[in-house]
Amino acid sequence: GRSRKIESQDAPKVRFADVAGQDNAKREVAELLEFLRDPERYRKVGAEVPHGILLEGPPGTGKTLLARALAGEAQVPFFHMSASEFIEVFVGVGASRVRQLFDQAKKAAPSIIFIDELDSVGRVRGAGFGGGHDEREQTLNQILAEMDGFEGHEAVVVLAATNRPDVLDPALLRPGRFDRHITLELPDLGAREAILRVHCQAVPLADDVDLRKIAAGTPGFSGADLKNLVNEAAMAAAREDVSKVTAKHFDEMRDRILMGSLRTMAIQD
Ligand code: ATP
Repeated sequence: GRSRKIESQDAPKVRFADVAGQDNAKREVAELLEFLRDPERYRKVGAEVPHGILLEGPPGTGKTLLARALAGEAQVPFFHMSASEFIEVFVGVGASRVRQLFDQAKKAAPSIIFIDELDSVGRVRGAGFGGGHDEREQTLNQILAEMDGFEGHEAVVVLAATNRPDVLDPALLRPGRFDRHITLELPDLGAREAILRVHCQAVPLADDVDLRKIAAGTPGFSGADLKNLVNEAAMAAAREDVSKVTAKHFDEMRDRILMGSLRTMAIQD
């Protein structure tokens, strides 16, 4: 069959300004920016910059977005690998795909590798969870080998994301591997307002729309949820064929999203 390629691309267009809130995480990630922009400055004085950074936090808090923004700010290529896809799609070749990914990124250095859902391959080994076990272990072992195989001066930063840092194999967290951790939190009131503002940039809002008020009415919403809310409200306005999105559109869609998540919770019970 047709072999699937690792998603590689030129530097993304996303910038830190597109990531609302998450000030701590942005500050920590920004330290890598200098290095990616001018690795030679670090190499010539023998400074070793950390290669592996773990981004942890609930779904939809902007881990992928932040990784892309770092690549966009540094103007370096971004290699994206979804760990779950690696075991599902590349049966029997997970390890060699990992090797390919790292080789490509090294050739393109300075560059960024982003591994999504690290926990899906990176769970504690030997914890037996059904089929594909060996496959998963081989893929994980290859990731560990690649992390150990970096030369100090190689300008490849590996960011990995997880919302289950508690289940990760401790081998992943050893020095020289994913030894720096950055936590992204669900947004607080101010951050929710800032996220709404980012996603409303291209949306014509009626005068009765108060983003602060919407932020106050959406505790527990992630950045992804808020983005979805803005889009649902805009869709509702489009269905009515009106030229502005009103407070009513936001209220109705928020309620619908809340009902939907309540329903999912009931099903899970
Ligand atoms: P997952 O763990 O589910 O993969 P994630 O933490 O990687 O989630 P993203 O994929 O980065 O989350 O977020 C999804 C989308 O939600 C982003 O593309 C962005 O549009 C929006 N979003 C999330 N967080 C923010 C934020 N802090 N500022 C602006 N937009 C955000």
